[in-house]
Amino acid sequence: MTRSAPRKALPLPLTLTTALTVALLTGCGTQVRNPVTGQLQRTVMDEQQEVATGAKNHQEILKEYGQYPDAKLQAYVNEVGQKLARQSHRAELVWHFTVLDSPVINAFALPGGYVYITRGLMAYLDSEADLAGVLGHEIGHVTARHGAQQATRQQNASLGVLAASVLGAVLEANGVSGAGRMASDVSQGVAAGLVASHSREHETEADRLGAEYLARSQYNPANMVDVIQVLKSQETYATDQARAQGRQVSGGNDWLATHPSNDQRLQDIRTVATRYPGPDQGRYADDGRQRYLSAIQGMAFGDSPEQGLVRGAQFLHPELGIALTAPEGWRIQNGADTLTVVSADGQAALLMKLAPTSAGRDHAQVIRQAVQPTAGHTQPVQLNGLKATRFVGQRRNSQGQVQNVQATVVDGPKGQVYLLVPMARHAQAQSLHAQALAAAEGSFRPLNAADQALARPWVVVKDTYPRTGWSGLAARSALAGAGTPAEPALKLLNGYYGGGEPKVGSAVKNVVARP
Ligand SMILES: [Zn+2]
Repeated sequence: MTRSAPRKALPLPLTLTTALTVALLTGCGTQVRNPVTGQLQRTVMDEQQEVATGAKNHQEILKEYGQYPDAKLQAYVNEVGQKLARQSHRAELVWHFTVLDSPVINAFALPGGYVYITRGLMAYLDSEADLAGVLGHEIGHVTARHGAQQATRQQNASLGVLAASVLGAVLEANGVSGAGRMASDVSQGVAAGLVASHSREHETEADRLGAEYLARSQYNPANMVDVIQVLKSQETYATDQARAQGRQVSGGNDWLATHPSNDQRLQDIRTVATRYPGPDQGRYADDGRQRYLSAIQGMAFGDSPEQGLVRGAQFLHPELGIALTAPEGWRIQNGADTLTVVSADGQAALLMKLAPTSAGRDHAQVIRQAVQPTAGHTQPVQLNGLKATRFVGQRRNSQGQVQNVQATVVDGPKGQVYLLVPMARHAQAQSLHAQALAAAEGSFRPLNAADQALARPWVVVKDTYPRTGWSGLAARSALAGAGTPAEPALKLLNGYYGGGEPKVGSAVKNVVARP
């Protein structure tokens, strides 16, 4: 949750889609020579339009995701990116490389030479050559003009994800199942990585071009394999976590299914990598692991305080000054504008969001505007010293059916007004989870001293792999005691989720709370 103008924790920028759609509708369909294939293509966007579209949407991206506030890290990523871009099919473009302040694992490109990587993805990369693999792939999307070609498909791919986060839509159409799906979209989107909106052919082409640019820049193209392996491990980890927590593992028929699987990409890229045996009897420049680990030293890890943090069962928002505890076994999904606390069986959820500012601070008005009830009554209550109003009543959905609805409006400690809405898929789930829902709602509180201590932001640090192994590393990690087991999370962070172990005494990554 964000205080205002929420940054979108989404894999695709809405505004890009909109701009591309406009370009599609108004474009005149000129011919452009594809810089990679050399063939003439009918297009709605010539190079000038590509650059203009990129520049315009770049501002939107920065507004929505935020630029990661570390000039040194930005300069480092830019330097690696520029080196690759100079070796690309469009060296003459003005290239821009930006690290976005998002914990989501993603990288993407806009037409015209704008390339983005999240700090979330950077934490899981292990060397400069890995970083080059990601940037090279995205440069490939730009040089082969995939953005312009893919406009329509991108539009289709992003809609389902975007629609999910609106409370009204969730209440209207899907009940809790909608909230559950939103949660799974988010985690699946994370695993998909590297923008899941391109076609199989385009992904393969970008992988191939990335490998070529890596080889030309003296990086081993086999690092492309590492990068795909990182994404693949994220998928496996997410699935394992879901199983361990008794959650349903998302099936294959969501938007991921329309994109090449990481398994397939892994296979494809292995083949591609062998085509570039290396410049100097197979020798490449070093993979820049030490440079990379130094560059990301102290980089923020996971949620940022401005977006609110999830620490095990606790949701903590230092900026808004609020905290909430999830019932045991429930999971917290921190969306851009809605916090969803979902039961393990996915049958019930508590939604929390900021009340619309247009409703003012009057609780009755907030309920009228947010819930649009047809009948019901309100009752003043207290939530841990905060003034609140509970509403119980009915509303009509878009099909005209009468639904029971509850909502609690609370005055937050810093002047904001919050809306808490317990939901269940059906009456039976409602009664089964009533107690837990009430407990979750009742835990809404001003941030206390213990919450404050727990809310210290996390950063990535260089550590040394101890004799005591993963458990020793976990013992000094902030990831321990955060609700999920620390060892698998550390293996994932260091690229050992599939097995194996670093040498004792070698440099590894760890996560600690910022002092
Ligand atoms: Zn791609």
